Amino acid sequence: MTPLLEVRDLAKHYPVKSGIVVARQVGTVRAVDGVSFAVNRGETLALVGESGCGKSTTARLALRLIEPSAGSIHFDGRDVTRIGGAALRALRRRAQIVFQDPYASLNPRLNVGDAIAEPMAVHGIGNAASRRARVEELLGLVGLAPFHAARFPHEFSGGQRQRIGIARALSMQPELIVCDEPVSALDVSIQAQVVNLLKDLQRRFGLAYLFIAHDLAVVKHVADRVAVMYLGRILEVASKRALFAAPRHPYTRALLAAIPHPDPQRRGRVTPLGGDVPSPMAIPPGCRFHTRCPAAQAICREQDPALRPLADGHQVACHLAETLPEAISDTGAGFA
Ligand code: SF4
Ligand code: MG
Repeated sequence: MTPLLEVRDLAKHYPVKSGIVVARQVGTVRAVDGVSFAVNRGETLALVGESGCGKSTTARLALRLIEPSAGSIHFDGRDVTRIGGAALRALRRRAQIVFQDPYASLNPRLNVGDAIAEPMAVHGIGNAASRRARVEELLGLVGLAPFHAARFPHEFSGGQRQRIGIARALSMQPELIVCDEPVSALDVSIQAQVVNLLKDLQRRFGLAYLFIAHDLAVVKHVADRVAVMYLGRILEVASKRALFAAPRHPYTRALLAAIPHPDPQRRGRVTPLGGDVPSPMAIPPGCRFHTRCPAAQAICREQDPALRPLADGHQVACHLAETLPEAISDTGAGFA
């Protein structure tokens, strides 16, 4: 089956310039540095990694909100890397984004009804009356009463604003929604409500999500598959079950080990990852994780490991994936 979204060898490099009179390039930030993944219809692929690893840039590249330096983007089997005009507008209807901070993405001077109706108006969908009716329907879908349409963004809580952002994305009846850390700014109790809403909407409308997160605990609740990103590259992809039960990449293992164990008796056994994340202006040669990897060997400093398939759709970018001891995931959190 053709994936809904597929990106191949996607890169975003920014020149870094210095100099007041004559600017000269002093380096390159490799924010996204050769990323490939696919999102199938109706599934949630979580893209997880520490802040600054290139997750949000990848999300924006995938939707053509920014232009890639290299690589290609395919939507529903079609190469959309360089489309423009009407074709790009059509893509915008089918693939929407929900941002981390809905307050920043909502115009404070538009009431919520107008904010939700705006994409429909831009795309020439319906008339003012039909859009008003649709706004009420959309508010209902995200659990907000119709009278909220007349209120302004500042009158809502963070969780409610995120519901409004989701309603706005749904207004286009998209097939894919990129969720860029949609619950990271919310209290834990509210996070669960928004995650449950997203899952409910996915079931109802067959939505696919590319779900960006830095929090593996959230990923555990939403993802079908997980891609782990580090310094602009994906290091491991697996089903959620395989990733949490039998992670292969040393970085994934370190991330999982850093999740606090629910049983306090079993906490504190974890060796935290040493060192800092290198700058995306100075990505280490060979395996980009070698400066922090407890298992690194000579080959790791020389050869850049490609993302390669193991069994059952599990992919890993590590020279030594087969020879590392079996991972014992000890995060303690079970699967529902
Ligand atoms: Fe560690 Fe080497 Fe694997 Fe990189 S390739 S993750 S440095 S063992
Ligand atoms: Mg981000």
